[in-house]
Amino acid sequence: MHTQTHTLRIDLLVDLSTHCQKQQTSHKYCPNLWVIKEIFKAHPLIGCWPVYLSADAPQSPESFKDVLEDFEQKIMPGVVHWNHPKFFAYFPSGNSFPSVLGDMLSSAIGSIGFSWASCPAAAELETIVMNWYAKALGLPKAFVSDAPGSTGGGALQGSASECVLVSLITARARAISELKGQTSVHDSVFLPSLIAYASREAHSSVEKATKMALVKLRIIDADEHGRMRVDLLRQAIQNDVNAGLTPFFVVATVGTTGGCAFDDITEIGKVCRQVSSIWLHVDGAYAGNSFILPEMRVFSAGLEYADSFNTNPNKLLLTNFDASALWVRDVMTLKSALNVNPLYLRHEHLNGVDYRHYGIPLSRRFRALKLWFVFRTYGIKGLQEYIRNHMALAKKFEMLVRKDERFEVRNDVHLGLVCFRMRTGDEPNHMLLAQINHSGKMHMTPAKFNGRYVIRFCVTYEHATEKDILDAWSQIKCFAEEILRDHQLESSSVPTTPEGTERTSSEPMAPVAGKPPIKKKLTRTKSLRFSFTRSISREQYQSQSEHLMDGCTPILVVDPKTLQENFQQAADENDRNTNNGSNGAISSPNKNGCTKLKNISDVDTDEGSN
Ligand code: PLP
Repeated sequence: MHTQTHTLRIDLLVDLSTHCQKQQTSHKYCPNLWVIKEIFKAHPLIGCWPVYLSADAPQSPESFKDVLEDFEQKIMPGVVHWNHPKFFAYFPSGNSFPSVLGDMLSSAIGSIGFSWASCPAAAELETIVMNWYAKALGLPKAFVSDAPGSTGGGALQGSASECVLVSLITARARAISELKGQTSVHDSVFLPSLIAYASREAHSSVEKATKMALVKLRIIDADEHGRMRVDLLRQAIQNDVNAGLTPFFVVATVGTTGGCAFDDITEIGKVCRQVSSIWLHVDGAYAGNSFILPEMRVFSAGLEYADSFNTNPNKLLLTNFDASALWVRDVMTLKSALNVNPLYLRHEHLNGVDYRHYGIPLSRRFRALKLWFVFRTYGIKGLQEYIRNHMALAKKFEMLVRKDERFEVRNDVHLGLVCFRMRTGDEPNHMLLAQINHSGKMHMTPAKFNGRYVIRFCVTYEHATEKDILDAWSQIKCFAEEILRDHQLESSSVPTTPEGTERTSSEPMAPVAGKPPIKKKLTRTKSLRFSFTRSISREQYQSQSEHLMDGCTPILVVDPKTLQENFQQAADENDRNTNNGSNGAISSPNKNGCTKLKNISDVDTDEGSN
């Protein structure tokens, strides 16, 4: 990059987008990487391990070709492919070619749109796109800034966690202002009395936000469907008011992370309305996007009670990370909570929106551009089609699981997530997930849903097909059969462990009669390029394998010999530094000045996977 000037070829981008659209072409493993590869004319992937990366930045410029080659050979093999057809973990990482192209343009433009004056197009487009988005989801008019009489509006943020924090800080400012009245006491005096509420199934970002804001959080239990118990919320608020606390923030979730449960916003909203200091925030990071479908709006009923609502187009709206949308009913409350106004940021265009008052950072990327590209390229119909496809495929998977009496589905499947398990204790299910992930053929994650260990199967791939689902199911069944056979478990005859009496993973398996269980060696793929899970050392794996049964089993394994050598080398280096009177800072470059990355040992190979 130092020696050459790389300008973005807009004509090439347009050609590419047309080509992608016509051909529905995608890179086999990483669809949008294909676009990037074409633009930079990168070389084909060549697996090359072990990998050495320099411990120091180069003094002299290197050729861009070399950098890209290293990217292909040294970085890509360690990348987890969230856009893979067999990636069923977490929630989707939204992506699509229009989004990537929009994002690249935004990066190339490099405008830092913190105020209207700093980039008028960014500010104007954000307002337009946030209103398109709100209307597409059928949000209450109070959130749409161009609706008659509205005092609300939205802004793009970096993550759902940020949206929750910004809402909480706004709610905190409003509550403190009410408590403080005309007095001149410092705001912090009121912090000990503030208390927030969220369900046990709410995302951990709520806990994090309350930690950062130094306020109390009361966790409310959920019902058997994973929905917040509104009776318990009402009771808790009442108790806290009686105890002299100030309930100020309630988070309801539409589409919980563990089981995609939808809290009853109407009932929660009615409770919140009874206490004037309460701000109701609704977190719809994943499932909020599904309100683009009229048939899903049964779950958005009650949003008229909400003070704020967030959703991540980077999860379920084909928009690449990062893009989170936050709408508030009263923009003035948000702006006054976050407003600072130094002279160097002021300008004369007082009617223009300054989005720096809508969030934490001053500098803001031109995120509206990619969302605008997505809306225009797919249209609302295209986005609806995409989500309906995920829903149909999840239903298909649910049906397959339910038809097999050895398995059970534990959540209500409304969208793309199915939480399933074998009808055994937890341990065989830990093993099943470990086997699934270790195969390198699929990736899934675990959760505790309604007190039960479940395997989360989430449809994530943009162009997912029924074949992907059928293939995954037949693989899962094979692994399950092996586990059940090896442990002489007849899952259909093993009743589901009664609620609350579940075995923990440290408890022994069911007694084994007849042949001893085959201690199956977990295998991984030989292909080094595409893997799903993170790397850890073999030693770590062996020493922690019980804990790792939660699905964090390694696909990339550090070669023990190399690890030992590296360790020894680092220790020697450290000794030398200490003896030389160096300050002992942690640094372990090898003799070539290189720090060794993970070295993959091809244990048992499994050709053709991934
Ligand atoms: N809220 C919910 C319901 C989520 O599922 C998640 C992440 O999966 C988050 C919040 C946090 O999202 P982010 O990574 O954008 O902060």
